[in-house]
Formats: sequence, C-alpha cells, structure tokens
Amino acid sequence: MERLTIKELLALEPAGQSVEARGWVRTFRSKRFIAMSDGSTIHTIQAVVDFEKFDESVLRSVTTGAAVEVKGTLVPSQGAGQNVEIQVDEVVIHGTSSPDEYPLQPKKHSLEFLREKAHLRMRTNTFGAVFRVRHALSYAIHHYFHERGFFNIHSPIITGSDAEGAGEMFRVTTLDLENVPKTEDGTVDVAQDFFGKETKLTVSGQLEAELAALGLGKVYTFGPTFRAENSNTSRHLAEFWMIEPEVAFADLKDNMDLVEDFLQYLVRFALDHCADDLAFLARREADEDKAKPAAERQAMPLIDRLKFVSQNGFERLTYTEAIDILRNSKPFKKKKFKFPVEWGKDLQSEHERYLVEKHFEKPVILTDYPASFKAFYMRLNDDAKTVAAMDVLFPGVGEITGGSQREERLDVLQRRCKEMNIPEEHVWWYLETRKFGTCKHAGFGLGFERLVMFVTGMTNIRDVIPFPRAPLNCEF
Ligand code: ATP
Ligand code: MN
Repeated sequence: MERLTIKELLALEPAGQSVEARGWVRTFRSKRFIAMSDGSTIHTIQAVVDFEKFDESVLRSVTTGAAVEVKGTLVPSQGAGQNVEIQVDEVVIHGTSSPDEYPLQPKKHSLEFLREKAHLRMRTNTFGAVFRVRHALSYAIHHYFHERGFFNIHSPIITGSDAEGAGEMFRVTTLDLENVPKTEDGTVDVAQDFFGKETKLTVSGQLEAELAALGLGKVYTFGPTFRAENSNTSRHLAEFWMIEPEVAFADLKDNMDLVEDFLQYLVRFALDHCADDLAFLARREADEDKAKPAAERQAMPLIDRLKFVSQNGFERLTYTEAIDILRNSKPFKKKKFKFPVEWGKDLQSEHERYLVEKHFEKPVILTDYPASFKAFYMRLNDDAKTVAAMDVLFPGVGEITGGSQREERLDVLQRRCKEMNIPEEHVWWYLETRKFGTCKHAGFGLGFERLVMFVTGMTNIRDVIPFPRAPLNCEF
C-alpha cells in the first residue's frame, strides 16, 4: 500500500478504501476517537476504534504523545470539521508515552514553557505551523532567485576577515584554552592556531557575495551567520540565517525595487501555499491579543496584514526626511522617545516603529544614511556626508533588511578604509575587485527569522527557529 501522509489522506474521497496512517496521538476520547497528527498538516485525522474489538492492553497504550500506526478503511466522517475518518481494523503501537510524564498535555502551553521543551515543541500545533511556514519561505526564496537568473553562492562560515563590522564575533580556534601559546610580547600566538591567523564565525556573507556577483552577475547567499550580541532582545539571535543577494551593474533604485518585489513575493507565496497554517496562526494571535492591553494589540489581523504588505507599495524616503518627521512628531514633542532624534545619530527601534506603525502605517524603505555610522563598503553620495544605504522597516519586527549600493571607486573605498581603521592588507582581495573591472553593484541582507516572525505573527524570534542560540542559551 502506498504510504500517504495525513495531509494526503484528508484530501481523498472517502470510499471505504484501505488506508494506513502513522503519527502521534493528540487525544484519545471516549475510548473511541483517536486524533492523530503526523506533522504534514495542521489538521489531525480522526481514527475511530470499536473498543470491544481490541485488546485492552493495546488501547491502554494509545495515550497523548504515543507513536502509533492505524490500518483501516477511509469513510465519510460523522463528526463536524472533517470530511473523512478512518474506521480502524488494526492498531500498532510504535512507541508508548507515559501520560503522567509527557510534558505536552492536550491543553494550551505558554511559549516560554515550550522553549524549555524545544526537543518536543515541534509536535504542537503552533510550532508545527511555524516550521511548515518557515520551510515554505525558504523554498520560495530559492525559487524566486532561480527563476530570475540568480546563482546561490555558499559563502564561508569561518572567516579570517573582521572587516564586516556588523557585530561582535565568535572566535574560532583549536588552541588549547588551558595553555594558550603566547608570543614574546605576551599576546596570543595566533600563528600556532589552526589557520595560522585569527579566525571568527562570519557575521555576513556579503563581501564574498560581492566577489561572486562581479563574475557571475546575480548571486545570493542563504546561510547561517553569527553575532555575539549580548543583547537579550526578542529580535536578536546569536545564530541566525541570512539571505544576501548581490547584483552587478545595479544601483540603489534597482536594489529598492528588488527588495520590495522580493518581500512581496515571499508574503504572497505564504498566503498562497500556507493557508491552513496561517489561518491557525491568525486565530492564535487573535486569542492572545484578547488578553493584552489595547495598546499592545495588533492594529490589523494577521492575514489582512500580510495581504496589505503584499499589495501596497513601500514608502521610500531618506534618513534626513525621516529625522524631520520624527522631530515634528507628537512623541518627540512630548519627550516620549527614550533615545535622542538628531541628524547623525542612528535610529532606534522606537523611532523605526513610529515611522512604520504610526506615521506611514506601511513598510518603509529608508535611504541615504549618514556615512558616520554605516559600513565602509556603502557608496558615498555626492554630498560626501551620506551613503547609498537602504533599510527596510516592517511593522512589528522593525528592521527586516539592510543593504546598500556598494562603493565601486577604489580611491574612495581606500579612503573609507583608512577612516574606519580597516587595514588594507585585511581586505586586499576586496579592493582588487575595484581595481580590475569595477562596476556599480548593490545588494542587501534579509534576516530570515525576522521574515518568519512577520509572516507567522510570532513576536519572539526564539519561536521561529528550531533551536535558538542566545546568551546563556545553547541547550539542544
Ligand atoms: P539591528 O539594527 O536590528 O540589530 P543590523 O543593522 O545589525 O540589525 P544588518 O547587519 O544590516 O543588521 O543585518 C541584516 C539583517 O539581518 C537585518 O536587517 C536583520 O533582519 C537581520 N539581523 C541582524 N542581526 C540579527 C540578529 N542578531 N538576529 C537575527 N536577525 C538579525
Ligand atoms: Mn545589530
């Protein structure tokens, strides 16, 4: 017999055909109705047993969490909410699960509790839905780029350059920490380390993506990145996944068009392919919202939010214009912002959220930030004060992508390196691409988990990655 998933079984016309299903028991009611889930869909299938026909010892093992297989016939369901059910002829217990010890009782558990049970939380409705959506988005990202002639580049995870400047880095070493070799002047003798130099886990694949784009034309990376940020926020992880497209002969305008089309495509893809899971997550969010004070509730239900973003253009404005808006805003005048709003200072999350959620009520692309707090590789504008940067800000998650047109002029790039104390010998290979056939090019980085947060409505980044890595948190 062909093995079907519960998702496939639920889509069949019930005609008394023989079927099998395997999965984990969610509930077993009235010694008669087994609700089973196998992860293929948010829905369970109902398996109906006539307990008089079964050995009591077998049915005693049908408890919440047990792995079971049922064989029987597929018939129209008597119950509401499903088309089919299985009339069971045979039950095989694959793995029992002690009902007293199994942590996932058939009731609502808090997300905090489930984070402590990350090894089992995939079995819950919420995490099943989140990780199916996460998969769909990952697939859609490759699909989007492939269809448009981009090539996927695997950028290295261990890096010898610390020029990216995107955050604190994790050290990679095979030196014996109990007995670190030292040079004469007392510093660590990195020449004795595995690579003969200091190495770190990468914070971004961008510099390598640029090298690739300047040969392959259009490329993207999709890999893990690491930042030792000691900030325990709901939007930062120490290990997260990033998508970084890079396009040769593209400028800032092309980059904005790409990021907008890309993000809208991904949201639409989820709406089209994850309808059941999103409907569940929308109901979940609405339930949660009821318990929250009015000010913390979502202004728009999840599905409406996704449709809105996929159908409406993003607002595009410069950093300088944003500063004007913020300085004229009510919260600024009433001194409600915690951080200062001043030209030359980076925007904080409270400012970004005001722009997106209160002022424009839609996603915003902010461009042309002051060069002083942006990376050395961003293209210097003619005003010599700002760079051709662009951050996309989304409701709820704040910054979802950061990108720029890259500095393609060798002399300007060398000057910027000097200003930012980046020794040329650290980035000689990067500089060489500006020496041999340089051209304008642009790209951005999308934090994958921030995207999954936005699409699923989950408000803590630790709930959209299977096994989160954060300060003092590396279980599983
Ligand atoms: P933020 O201001 O939110 O810390 P950033 O300016 O440090 O972001 P970039 O260096 O531009 O971020 O990285 C590109 C994208 O990666 C960001 O837009 C965001 O979506 C995501 N990102 C950055 N840091 C983290 C993190 N620690 N955990 C998860 N995603 C992150
Ligand atoms: Mn950061």
